[in-house]
Amino acid sequence: MPYTIIHHKKDCISCGACAAINPEFWEMDEQGLAHLKASQPVNSHFEREIGTEDERARNQDAADCCPVNIIKVEKKQ
Ligand code: SF4
Repeated sequence: MPYTIIHHKKDCISCGACAAINPEFWEMDEQGLAHLKASQPVNSHFEREIGTEDERARNQDAADCCPVNIIKVEKKQ
């Protein structure tokens, strides 16, 4: 089942939790904001498609640790 990770980067408060828990997908950029690796800008946020349940679970962990709830993992429409 394909999923989409959605990141509202402009609202990031630079806590670093997502990059600490899942460095394979998340890093801190030169501005100190989280960046979802290999994501593309879509409107005012960033997106990346993933395909496996393991990827979904690990990115849901990142979403769950975000104190401002700006990471979402959704089933692809
Ligand atoms: S957990 Fe949320 S607020 Fe913290 S760095 Fe990641 S996206 Fe930004």
